Amino acid sequence: MFEFSLEATSGSARAGSLTLPHGEVQTPCFMPVGTQGTVRALSPNDLRAAGASLVLANTYHLHVRPGEDVVGRLGGLHRFMGWDRPLLTDSGGFQVFSLEGSRTVSDDGVEFQSHVDGSRRFLTPERAMEIQWALGADVAMAFDHVVPGGADEATARDALERTLKWLERGAKRHAELSDGPTVRQTLWPILQGGAHSQLRIEGLRRILDQGEWTGLAVGGLSVGEPKAVMYEMLERLAPRLPPAVPRYLMGVGFPEDLVAAVARGVDLFDCVAPTRNGRNGAAYTADGPVNIRNAAHRDDARPLDPTCDCETCTTFSRGYLRHLFVAEELLGLRLLSLHNVRYLMRLTAEMRAAVRAGDYERWAADWRRRYTQGETT
Ligand SMILES: [Zn+2]
Repeated sequence: MFEFSLEATSGSARAGSLTLPHGEVQTPCFMPVGTQGTVRALSPNDLRAAGASLVLANTYHLHVRPGEDVVGRLGGLHRFMGWDRPLLTDSGGFQVFSLEGSRTVSDDGVEFQSHVDGSRRFLTPERAMEIQWALGADVAMAFDHVVPGGADEATARDALERTLKWLERGAKRHAELSDGPTVRQTLWPILQGGAHSQLRIEGLRRILDQGEWTGLAVGGLSVGEPKAVMYEMLERLAPRLPPAVPRYLMGVGFPEDLVAAVARGVDLFDCVAPTRNGRNGAAYTADGPVNIRNAAHRDDARPLDPTCDCETCTTFSRGYLRHLFVAEELLGLRLLSLHNVRYLMRLTAEMRAAVRAGDYERWAADWRRRYTQGETT
């Protein structure tokens, strides 16, 4: 259980498979985000039809509503949300640190105000483990201190040191909780360090010194820093990351970022972008992004993406999809969300094939040419 097998490489790009208690995950893999225990506008059947194998749910949101005790009493998160494939929960760190102004950070943990009922709550590395254990996802994430993309070195150092101490405490609590005959959840550390490569490299070394991990996440990127900085961090880290462990780049989900990050050795991604953009009428297609609300689509009988096999593209015309958005019909939100998730599943499958063929760089150049030179209406 929790085994990762690296099956092929092409340059720094990797293809592998990750075995988790609820099933196997082929990498590179994109995880749709189910913030409140649901990927917005999509049912578990929709997700299965789109080919999703791993879904992320948010610890912070489920803790404040309905509460992990309710989820636990209703059979755990898998049963609660009707998803029988692998699940990963984040630690709540990112959400808690996004609550600017209504939180107090100490070395012990973070006191914050619930966005639902305003109640004061306290999250510690140990508590984050207990909540995630009660939710019961296949993968739990360590509680981390996230700083904004432009944070100076002293601020990023402070957050890194706290994250490393919290990792030790969280791992100890997680080991106590998992001390039973069946290990049903693994814990992954999160590397912080802001946009400071020497901090990232030092942080990585110290995480690896702390123990054997079944996966490793890079957090605190794609939080406002220029994209070139994110790529540089990944390039500096790639040769130092243990090859036998999957690497998860948190909060990244635009097609061009996935293609660039896989070239730099990343295996796993999550992001709200495909579903959030879908609900706004923005779709990814082989020929670049399309905004279905544009008047140009009014009489368009073509599918959204002629290369796509999803329900949206095989059933409806662009003209109909535009009509749904203009008329503010709920079906439109579902259909574009479904297509965008399916698009990323097909994209990651193409990446795997290119890595297996030892041809990732050429494939990525071809993909980029078509995606950026196509229609952008
Ligand atoms: Zn489609």
